[in-house]
Amino acid sequence: MNLKDPSLLRQQCYIAGQWLDADSGERIAVTNPATGELVGHVPKMGRQETRRAIEAAEQAWPAWKAKTAKERSTVLRKLFDLMLANQDDLAAILTAEQGKPLTEAKGEIAYAASFFEWFAEEAKRVYGETIPSPWADKRLFTLKQPIGVTAAVTPWNFPSAMITRKAAPALAAGCPMVIKPASQTPLSALAMAELAHRAGVPAGVFSVVTGSAKEIGGELTANPIVRKLSFTGSTEIGRELMAACAPTIKKISLELGGNAPFIVFDDADLDAAVEGAIASKYRNAGQTCVCANRLYVQAGVYDAFAAKLAEAVGKLKIGNGMEAGVTQGPMIDIKAVEKVEEHIADVLSKGGKLLVGGKRHALGHSFFEPTIVTGVTREMKVAREETFGPLAPLFKFETEQEVIERANDTEFGLAAYFYAKDMGRIWRVSEALEYGMVGANAGLISTEVAPFGGVKQSGLGREGSRHGIEDYLEVKYLCLAGI
Ligand code: ADP
Repeated sequence: MNLKDPSLLRQQCYIAGQWLDADSGERIAVTNPATGELVGHVPKMGRQETRRAIEAAEQAWPAWKAKTAKERSTVLRKLFDLMLANQDDLAAILTAEQGKPLTEAKGEIAYAASFFEWFAEEAKRVYGETIPSPWADKRLFTLKQPIGVTAAVTPWNFPSAMITRKAAPALAAGCPMVIKPASQTPLSALAMAELAHRAGVPAGVFSVVTGSAKEIGGELTANPIVRKLSFTGSTEIGRELMAACAPTIKKISLELGGNAPFIVFDDADLDAAVEGAIASKYRNAGQTCVCANRLYVQAGVYDAFAAKLAEAVGKLKIGNGMEAGVTQGPMIDIKAVEKVEEHIADVLSKGGKLLVGGKRHALGHSFFEPTIVTGVTREMKVAREETFGPLAPLFKFETEQEVIERANDTEFGLAAYFYAKDMGRIWRVSEALEYGMVGANAGLISTEVAPFGGVKQSGLGREGSRHGIEDYLEVKYLCLAGI
């Protein structure tokens, strides 16, 4: 990899302000999914090292929370500036370990950095309240205070942004954080630790521990010093972590799986709907928790939409994300490819039809053709399960009421999208969708200024926006008597 600043490619963990190897000396290889080549190694750490990171965070906490909001803000703003100044290198590291096209990786770095900018500002707006007192001799107040040592467990699909969305509000609130990145994509996290160091984040306030998910996760969830865990990943693991946090009653935030409906009504602008579907479905090779998973198209425009979508999919360029013009990189690994294959086979075995794609790409490795299937019904796996890949299944529906019922017929509730022009319908459908986020005539909705999060089994809490810092704060009620 050709980096302007090779010292960003860190291959040790950052704990208590020091770069360290695992006690055992064991390492994990990080490979490039587009080529199978080795990108680097990271330490395979476990419980002991995690405990040390937690204890260092506990030690660092008093001084960090004692800083004024403006002092913390200045450090976070500097980290934002450093991420942007190193955007090209950070994006190159991200694409090398994750596979997404370089332009998407650059976009992710800008998005990731924006959380430091946003929460550098929000740090200064952690307001308490004065409450009208029911007693003449007493005055009542609330104070908002940092919750304490926090932990984050993050996934591989957004190796940079899923960390900053948690670390920025934590640090802004005055909480240290111990981070365990996904083992497929730890280098982006370690590069960020290097920049946190340069920005002047004190030792112990921001640590990154790579290695065994079970051991590190086990310590982060069991250790009573950790007061809050924030996790982004599958519902299955989220459920396990939530249970593991129960004995020590930790506060938790969970961003889990989605099964996003993408609805195209008869009155939609079909070209806009196709553009939204391409962005929502095929971005990051379909590997985002807000990717459209089920495309519901009203009967009157079903064939026209399918034809336009097929034409647009035909223009996607598959390849190594480092190459110019590539719009879809490889999937993260073969297991991910197999899940897409399983869903396609299930559709075809139950009467669905292949319109575009359908198989592994000629480039080999974990490349997969962007795919569209038609004639999809509610009996098929894609109706219930998240595919997490470049497969667009087109379901046909007749009425607004029917599609709302079908869209909500899932245990998930993260993002939903629909395209329509009628204003009454836009309001009705927006209100009826049981989702944490709704895109009306929009396929891309994520921004640091708006709350990201799900309902039902898609999670707990909100990240980003003015709400995002609340998860890292406790409300203290103060009653002042003897007035
Ligand atoms: P994905 O499908 O995105 O890989 P996972 O939920 O499996 O989702 O993983 C998300 C993150 O959770 C990763 O950092 C992974 O290493 C971590 N993880 C997986 N299993 C566990 C576990 N048992 N305890 C703690 N962390 C885990």
